[in-house]
Amino acid sequence: MSSAAPESQDDGRLGRRDFLRHSAWAGAAVAVAVAGGVVTTELLRGTGHGAAAPPTADFTFVQVSDSHLGYEGKANPDVTGTFQQAIDLVNALPLRPDFVIHTGDVTHFSTPGQFDQAKQMLGTLRTGQVLVLPGEHDAVDDAGQKYLEAFGAHTLGRGWFSFDQKGVHVIALVNTTGAQKLGHLGDDQLAWLRHDVAHLSAETPIVVFAHIPLFEMYTPWGWGTDDADRALGLLRRFGSVTVLNGHVHQTMTKTEGNVTFHTCAPTAFPLPPPGQGPGPNPLVVPAGQLHRVLGIRDAGYQVHTPGLRLTDHALP
Ligand SMILES: [Zn+2]
Ligand SMILES: [Zn+2]
Repeated sequence: MSSAAPESQDDGRLGRRDFLRHSAWAGAAVAVAVAGGVVTTELLRGTGHGAAAPPTADFTFVQVSDSHLGYEGKANPDVTGTFQQAIDLVNALPLRPDFVIHTGDVTHFSTPGQFDQAKQMLGTLRTGQVLVLPGEHDAVDDAGQKYLEAFGAHTLGRGWFSFDQKGVHVIALVNTTGAQKLGHLGDDQLAWLRHDVAHLSAETPIVVFAHIPLFEMYTPWGWGTDDADRALGLLRRFGSVTVLNGHVHQTMTKTEGNVTFHTCAPTAFPLPPPGQGPGPNPLVVPAGQLHRVLGIRDAGYQVHTPGLRLTDHALP
C-alpha cells in the first residue's frame, strides 16, 4: 500500500476480528436459501427486518457484477453462457428496471474483444439505462483507458458519476484503477464527492456503488479500500446510506452506523469466504452447483415507505 494517508482512527467501527465475530455472515445461510432460487437479503431498510416487501416500487434497478468475460478455467468453463443467463434473468423480471448497473470485472483481461462482447451483451438488457463501473480486471495494463472508451461516456475522472432518481441520490465510485493492493478512491474523486453531496439534505437516501468493498472485509486479500473512511465520513450525516459492491464474488451484508453494505453475487465464478484457503482464487464447486452461487440483485425503492428492498436471485 503506497498511500501516505494516516491510519484510520478508531471511531467505533469494528476491527476485522470483531467484525468476524459479530457480523451476520451471509455465506452459509445464502448457500441454503439461494438453493430455493431467491434469497431476500434485507427488507425495507429502516423499518426492521421481516417487514413485508412492497408489491410495487417507485423505481427499481438491478446490480450485476463480476462477469469476467474471457476467463477460461475450471471454475466456470462458460462465462459467456452464465452472463447470458444473468441477462435473461434481468429481462424476465416482472418490473423492467429503471437502470441496470454492472459493478465491475465485466472482462477478465481488458482486451478490446472482451469489451466489445460485453457491450453487445449488455446492449440486450431490457432497461432504461445500462451503467458500468470498472473492476481491476477492466483496468489491466492501461489504468482503465479501454474501459473508459467502452463505457465511460457521461462519467467523470476515471469513470465515477452520480445522479438523482426519485429523491434518492445515486453515487458510483471507482476504486480499482490505482496501483495499490487495496481499493483506492484518491484525492481527486474524494474532492468531487465532497462537492457532489454538499447540497443534499441529511434526509436524502444515498445509494453508493463501487467495485471493491468500502468496508474492511478481508484486508490481506485486498478486500477493502484504503481511503474508504474519508468517503464514508462525507456520508456520515445522512440518515440512510446503502453501499453495493462486487469484487468478492459472494453475497454478504454488514451494517456500520448509518451505512449498510451489501456485496453482490458474481455471474462468473465464486471465490472462497474471506481468509479460507491460500487466496482469493476461483473456487471450483461440485458439478451442478455453480448456478446456485451465481446471480443478480434486484432492488426496488418506494419513496413513501422509505427503504430499499434488495433481493438476490440465483441463476436458474
Ligand atoms: Zn471479479
Ligand atoms: Zn475485482
